[in-house]
Amino acid sequence: MGKTRKLNNRKRIALVAHDRKKLDLIDWAEYNKTALSRHELVATGTTGKLLEDKLDRPVKKVLSGPLGGDQQIGAMIATGDIDVLIFFWDPMEAQPHDSDVKALLRLAIAWNIPTACDRATADFMLTSPLMHEVYEAQIPDYSEYLKRRVQ
Ligand code: PGA
Repeated sequence: MGKTRKLNNRKRIALVAHDRKKLDLIDWAEYNKTALSRHELVATGTTGKLLEDKLDRPVKKVLSGPLGGDQQIGAMIATGDIDVLIFFWDPMEAQPHDSDVKALLRLAIAWNIPTACDRATADFMLTSPLMHEVYEAQIPDYSEYLKRRVQ
């Protein structure tokens, strides 16, 4: 077996929602307040502020998404500081930071991060028994890539 990353019982969940998806995410988070209370929450600036108000608990906030927040969450994924990503992105509107959105989704796949982009998937994920257990996630093997010869 290759390298793994240990996800503890208490997961570090990153939450991001585009403007027209924020109500949906906030509503979902309020409905799941008790389940979410067992985990650490990190969010992009505006999403994080709304979550704090609604859930009445501290949420670690990075910058607003378009101002670098998506990239900060992506960097946290790459350094192993995020276990789960809940990212309600808007399929009906182009974003000024579309490249950052793509980069964040790409890093989530690159590092095998459980990712939910809509409410149904978020429901399935949050109700998974693995959310409350230690889980060893496989880390894709990039050793060949890192050893490649560059002319
Ligand atoms: P925001 O960022 O929570 O600061 O609005 C969301 C996003 O990444 O677009």
